[in-house]
Amino acid sequence: MASKRAATTAVAENLDPVFISEQQFDRAAAYVRGLKQGLVEFLKKPKRVTTVNFPIELDDGSVQSFRGYRVVHNRVFGPGKGGMRYHPDVTMEEVIALAKLMTWKCALVNIPFGGAKGGVVCDTKLLTASELRRITRRFTSELFDVIGPYKDIPAPDLYTDAQTMAWIYDTYDVLHPGYNNRPVVTGKPLEMGGSWGRSEATGTGCVFATQRFLSKALIPDRQEIAGARVVIQGFGDVGAVAAHAFCREGARIIAVSDSQGGIHNEGGLDPDDVARFKAEHGTVVGMSNTLTISNAEMLELDCDILMPAALGNQIHAGNAHNIKARLVVEGANNPTTPQADLILRDRGIFVLPDILVNAGGVTVSYYEWVQNQANEQWNSEDVMAKLRERMQSTVDAVFNRWQAFVVGEEKPAGRVLSEEPTGVPDFRTVSLLIAIERVTRATLMRGIWP
Ligand code: NAD
Repeated sequence: MASKRAATTAVAENLDPVFISEQQFDRAAAYVRGLKQGLVEFLKKPKRVTTVNFPIELDDGSVQSFRGYRVVHNRVFGPGKGGMRYHPDVTMEEVIALAKLMTWKCALVNIPFGGAKGGVVCDTKLLTASELRRITRRFTSELFDVIGPYKDIPAPDLYTDAQTMAWIYDTYDVLHPGYNNRPVVTGKPLEMGGSWGRSEATGTGCVFATQRFLSKALIPDRQEIAGARVVIQGFGDVGAVAAHAFCREGARIIAVSDSQGGIHNEGGLDPDDVARFKAEHGTVVGMSNTLTISNAEMLELDCDILMPAALGNQIHAGNAHNIKARLVVEGANNPTTPQADLILRDRGIFVLPDILVNAGGVTVSYYEWVQNQANEQWNSEDVMAKLRERMQSTVDAVFNRWQAFVVGEEKPAGRVLSEEPTGVPDFRTVSLLIAIERVTRATLMRGIWP
């Protein structure tokens, strides 16, 4: 009965990424004091949207056209910063929504970047390495001066990696000789100016943030990671690293998945074994001593911590009623829809939102950018210590602000944008509220707004 009602609701849910980002913004803006309507419009719109179409010769001699996007949402705090994703479902709307998220994420963790994002519509599984190299080089040439160390700085995202960043750097460097161009991209290979800890930063940062959050004792009998039963959707840069980091803290990973499906073993999975199996077979599915389950079934498993670390809109009005986790840790960007947020909140399931919990990636990207300016390379321990401190202080800031609402010290600002604020805001709304306040103050101080 419950799932029938949920499925009906899901049909009515608007999953347009721009609509969702505006809904999330409106929920938070309802709590921001002194926010003028004109400023709301300015903060909602992207500053610049670049679309390029370009042809590539494939290995078989045929020619195929590809479409790429790069969006800068806001540069009030500094150059645009955000990943480049290669995926067949990339759309301009998705890239705009993700660029906005980067603005708020950078503001929340207090790093001097604005928000940006990019992507190419392509299926990396159907392309060879040399085709991907040509796509990346041509895309970077088309962008030419749209990106730059002080303008807009790409990083890895879905189906892009350090190799992709090395190709972007090289192409940009050829087009801009005579300068230290290393800070034009982050997430580079170590020997090309990458930072120690960058590839682990997002997944490990998620675990640092989770640990800090659990220590606040909001979840009865679960004040630490040790002993927690964890489910992770996606076994890539974020999910696989988080699986290792959770295990190091004493958690039991009971299920993981990739694009082909999931595997479940209540006794616990060894992330090293899963990684080895995936490297050999191209998927986690089929590993011995595991039960094969679908991604949809996996999300609804009984567990302490559910970590979506793959695509957007995975937890929605259609399945939020069936989620059994006690805490959702958003390794992925936008994995939970606004309707699902409300359902989870009403069911007492906490969500550590993307803007907060997966900000470790952009934080260490910032450290890489700083190291590149000085031609330095910090050691791994220093990077991780800085990251841990930043993730902990950000969780503290969000938690303290949330508590101010719980005890009634803070109330909505009396502005209703798309829906009436009700009850105590969730952690996404509080995180966004802090970020919007910071960007608003900087916008006013710079005199961008009269
Ligand atoms: P990745 O390409 O390294 O890994 C993606 C994983 O998701 C792969 O295991 C893939 O098989 C799996 N996947 C793809 N489609 C799936 C599906 N339909 N169901 C289940 N699994 C599926 O990408 P990543 O860098 O790990 O990024 C994952 C998410 O984290 C994205 O939402 C990205 O925006 C977000 N993110 C990444 C970073 C970063 O530093 N890499 C930082 C912040 C946020």
